Amino acid sequence: MLDACDTESPREACGVVGVCAPATTEVGRICFYALFQLQHRGQESAGISVGDGVTTTTHKRLGLVTQVFDEKIISGFRGHVAVGHTRYSTTGSNVECNTQPIQGHFRGTPFVLAHNGNLVNSMELRAELEAEGMRFGTTVDSELIVRLIESMDAPNIEAAVKACLSHIRGAYSLVIGTPSQVMGIRDPWGVRPLCLGELPGHGGHILASETCAFPPLGAHFLRELEPGECVTLDESGLRAEQVEPLQARAMCLFEFVYFARPDTTMYGTSLWQVRRRMGNLLAREHPADADIVIPVPDTAYPAAVGYAEESRIPYMEGLVKNRYIQRTFIQPEQSMRELGVRLKLAPLRENLLGRRVVVVDDSIVRGTTTLQQVKLLRDAGAVEVHLRITSPPVKFPCYYGIDMAVQSDLIAHRMNVEKIRAHLGADSLGFLSLSNTVRAVGVNKEHLCRACFDGRYPCEVPEPFRVTKLALDPSATLAGE
Ligand code: SF4
Repeated sequence: MLDACDTESPREACGVVGVCAPATTEVGRICFYALFQLQHRGQESAGISVGDGVTTTTHKRLGLVTQVFDEKIISGFRGHVAVGHTRYSTTGSNVECNTQPIQGHFRGTPFVLAHNGNLVNSMELRAELEAEGMRFGTTVDSELIVRLIESMDAPNIEAAVKACLSHIRGAYSLVIGTPSQVMGIRDPWGVRPLCLGELPGHGGHILASETCAFPPLGAHFLRELEPGECVTLDESGLRAEQVEPLQARAMCLFEFVYFARPDTTMYGTSLWQVRRRMGNLLAREHPADADIVIPVPDTAYPAAVGYAEESRIPYMEGLVKNRYIQRTFIQPEQSMRELGVRLKLAPLRENLLGRRVVVVDDSIVRGTTTLQQVKLLRDAGAVEVHLRITSPPVKFPCYYGIDMAVQSDLIAHRMNVEKIRAHLGADSLGFLSLSNTVRAVGVNKEHLCRACFDGRYPCEVPEPFRVTKLALDPSATLAGE
């Protein structure tokens, strides 16, 4: 599987950032660097809002973080609080109006909201609110939260935000900013990550989707937010409160397999180590008689190291990735899809020629890209191709903020492992079992969402919602899918 720009893979949802640093006016710059660290979570649009105590200023556009912001824009931000967002569209198509942070007003106080996740009751909520006469400017579920906050009968914005939570269901890590404070909230299952750090050089705190945002800023990781917890940051410091009752913890297992960066820690564990353990266990569960082990870049590097360690088969690079290819390169037609794979991955013939190759990858979703990869390796001279996958077969769609595919497009929904192997043209194929995937993470199975593998959705998904990410956008189509 490829990341970010290929048409088969599951795609990250979004990255969110919140900064409150009373000792500096450079929060826009801090937010920019944090978003840059979270770019892997969404490449379609980016936005930053900065609060100066009176009002908020927002700049957001389609594009990568470095395309949306330049020095003039960053140095123009002045204030002590900031909210940032980088987006991959899991509901609503990729158009300018759907960029975040989304702006709202509560009784004259401006606020902004950045959301990672998906609401599973968005269709019914939108219908209810439209029936009450409410109008929407976007086709994303995140705007529903903004309009709900605006409509709450509450004494202040903090109370309105908390009151709104009882109306929404699903996966959400939210960062909400007013001109003088930032609130970070995690859904009662804790499906999507949200971390808290300290900014010692700036007398403040930072919230971010992943801990990898902190080190370049000199920020110290304090802790992950608890499911159902709200942390409020303002000039008086930090307040934490359980605002929704904790449900069964259900952090997304795919964050460990693929989405999060390897230098991030989740549930107190380094993801690089988790992925290396996945490789170790994969080698035990599915050994192969081969000459070299290669990763599909980039996510599978640590797992390939782990597989090589355990199997004592030499680790080598077999594919070189062009990191600069954008999603727009990839077209839905089969011929262009093939070209897309060849533009993105180049085989290292001198390492592959005449060799029996174990290829370690993180997942197979539709199978279309893996098919091209196997062909690529054979064309480059590999005499055997043994696919080893560090997760179980994906049989069920995700409704919690990861864009995978509809169920009928999932290859493991339609075929058993042997049929998938034959379809992909591999000499052998082995998926890491669910029990070993969880074992590599090192936490209780019941503390993870693994619904795309076993179909057990921790937060019930209403039948009408089991459609596409464009549930709120009937006129749109899924480009490139
Ligand atoms: S269904 Fe899969 S991708 Fe979605 S939250 Fe659960 S484990 Fe993650």
